[in-house]
Amino acid sequence: MKITKQKGTRDIYGQDIKIWQYIEQNIREICKTHCFNEIRTPVFEATELFARGVGDETDIVNKEMYTFLDKGGRSITLRPELTAGVVRAYIENGMSSMVSPVKLWYEANMYRYEKMQKGRYREFTQFGIEYFGSKSYLADIEVITLAYELFKKLNLIDKVTLTINSIGCIECRKKYIEKLKEYIKPNLDKMCDTCKIRYEKNPLRMLDCKEDRCQNILENAPMITDYICDECKSDFEALKSMLDKLGIKYEVDKRIVRGLDYYNKTVFEYISNEYGFAVCAGGRYDKLVENIGGESTSAVGFGMGLDRICLLLENSMDNNVDNVDIYFAVLDKDKYSNALKMVLSLRENNIKVEIDTLDRSFNAKLKYANKINAKYVCIIGDELKQNKCTIKNMENSKQDLVDFKLEKIISIIK
Ligand SMILES: [Zn+2]
Ligand SMILES: [Zn+2]
Repeated sequence: MKITKQKGTRDIYGQDIKIWQYIEQNIREICKTHCFNEIRTPVFEATELFARGVGDETDIVNKEMYTFLDKGGRSITLRPELTAGVVRAYIENGMSSMVSPVKLWYEANMYRYEKMQKGRYREFTQFGIEYFGSKSYLADIEVITLAYELFKKLNLIDKVTLTINSIGCIECRKKYIEKLKEYIKPNLDKMCDTCKIRYEKNPLRMLDCKEDRCQNILENAPMITDYICDECKSDFEALKSMLDKLGIKYEVDKRIVRGLDYYNKTVFEYISNEYGFAVCAGGRYDKLVENIGGESTSAVGFGMGLDRICLLLENSMDNNVDNVDIYFAVLDKDKYSNALKMVLSLRENNIKVEIDTLDRSFNAKLKYANKINAKYVCIIGDELKQNKCTIKNMENSKQDLVDFKLEKIISIIK
């Protein structure tokens, strides 16, 4: 039987891997200039972490996690997101006693047993940042602008729209949830089963429901924005006015409540104009560190779906083929060691060099040089006795007999 990859996974290679490397290089650069440090955490964690950190009533925890018992009988879950894991690491490693704020970034694979859609896989990759230790909306600004700058760097800024909202603090949310339940109560019968359960356990989640019959009822539901307290309101106003001053365009979308339980105050998404899905989503989560067992710590962050970013880049990136600076065609096996010594020295000098390991004719070697887009071919033949070699320029087919010397060959290539 042929063994094939699992549903929702894929192999990335060829042109696709170049897009990934391009994104990853830009991520590293942007995190460096914004002074965030990388963190890598385990692929699997105790299941309890996500129940507490993401929320019992979310789709992620209820339906989508890869959970299993290990041979020691522990309940283990492949991470479905990374914020909970980073917060666990923050607490466990005593980072709260480090210089504040603590600014971390990650890029990692995650796992959710989900329905397949465009740009959505069961094994997927997110880039994210977490900013710990600042209550100020200015930290929210730092987080939103990092994503903004990355989209600029990737030439995607015109392809996404920033949407923001405030979902208030715990206090104002209590008031809002009462109003929301009051509004929904007479129509609850007409809503889906999931909404009925959420009505009791986590009414805010109902706003996320994708079913038309529920959306119709929710269309005129009260908005959280109308119930937020003075402090939350002034924070949100300050945030908007700062974005205005920075010239960062945004839309206020009162429907964003975010799919995870731990957010408060600012929530935001960058939406793809073409596909309509979020490519980056984040917000403030001041209660999460406490929920997972740490000291109360303010925090804000985002996660960016890189599989979706790739989709946006696929059409806009040139199909640039990697070329080889010089290819060594060795005509006589006895001279292979001399050739290889030179090849290694050139590679030490950061030059992209290919050398044949296949025994094939001179013509076949030249054909191969063309296929790999070699700019030059170094032909090693009898002239090596006089310490010379032939260098062929593949663009104009000119050939020169030159000294077989490192400096000479480098000078020709550069
Ligand atoms: Zn509030
Ligand atoms: Zn529903």
